[in-house]
Amino acid sequence: MAEFIPVNEPLLDGNEKKYLMECIETGWISSEGPFIAEFENKFSERCNRRYGIAVSNGTAAIDIAVEALGIGPDDEIILPAFTIISCVNQIIRAGAKPVFIDSDPASWNMDVDQIEDKITDKTRAIMIVHIYGLPVDMEPIINIANKYNLKIIEDAAEAHGQTYNGRPCGSFGDISTFSFYPNKHVTTGEGGMILTNDESLAESCRSLRNLCFQPQKRFVHEKLGWNARMTNMQAALGLAQLERLDKFIEQKKKMGELYTTHLSQFKEYMQLPLTKTPYADNNYWVFGVVMEKSTGLNAEIMMKKLAGEQVGTRPFFYPLHMQPILRKLHISDGVKLPISENLYLQGFYLPSGLALTEVQIDNVVKRLQKILP
Ligand SMILES: *Cc1c(COP(=O)(O)O)cnc(C)c1O
Repeated sequence: MAEFIPVNEPLLDGNEKKYLMECIETGWISSEGPFIAEFENKFSERCNRRYGIAVSNGTAAIDIAVEALGIGPDDEIILPAFTIISCVNQIIRAGAKPVFIDSDPASWNMDVDQIEDKITDKTRAIMIVHIYGLPVDMEPIINIANKYNLKIIEDAAEAHGQTYNGRPCGSFGDISTFSFYPNKHVTTGEGGMILTNDESLAESCRSLRNLCFQPQKRFVHEKLGWNARMTNMQAALGLAQLERLDKFIEQKKKMGELYTTHLSQFKEYMQLPLTKTPYADNNYWVFGVVMEKSTGLNAEIMMKKLAGEQVGTRPFFYPLHMQPILRKLHISDGVKLPISENLYLQGFYLPSGLALTEVQIDNVVKRLQKILP
């Protein structure tokens, strides 16, 4: 039986064990420990931001960001359809309206040319999401946001250490968010981070992550928050991971280059990720492929066949406007976004974890070749 190649395996071979042991030996295991502030400081510094607020996961980071910006009933938020459900949850819960933008067919990121037409006098913010290792084209978005006085929420969960024209992803939003799930460039097991330069927004986020306890009257609450605190143990992992972020990125780029070289022979079968755009090199958070419709193959067929060959894969995002819960709530009635719908039907990603070896990449390519007609 061939060796199973998982879609993701994290690398935890730096100071993770040492820092975790320190938590256990000192007894600092809750959200009160010293690693949290250190992780917040080092992570926000890395992104050139003034404030970092560590939270329990990337979804909580987005929920809190949306709430901190005061998004409420009747507000409209523009965001890509091709992203994870986490982006839209709090917009809907707050009673606001998500307005979806289709993807660019080459970069898979939101098509920035479609944004301005969707702006109304109710639009409050644009949420941008850097997808699969390539940043969104920020310059037009910054111009639109300035012109119409809109906030930018930046979901950089897949863009650790990535830059746009040399400026770090995570530095573009009025509020920017990250995830540290194990498939991300930096992991804390579960975890997330909110970044901002605005002191009062930072204060709101800190309060919202901690149930809106008040310093003076602890159990008297003026607002509803969340318990979304990060533990000292998670921050310990995060610090150890952050020390090696540059190395991780180098490794992912190498993975992307190897896949690109090997898979270019199959170009008539599948579209590969762009190696770069005018403003960034791909840093391959994951290596996605999109099957050409003319092959008669789609993502579902390919993933099933690859599973039979012991290769782990993941489907691309199911577009938000098509989500059954959104249809049921009549949030996206009649919305059709052909590019993101096609990406879902035809796209999936190959094993892309940091522990992936060159030999495993070779084997993924060989097994892929075996199942292509
Ligand atoms: C992973 C991810 C999230 C969610 O992060 P969790 O930590 O899993 O809650 C949000 N947005 C994007 C784009 C992601 O890739």
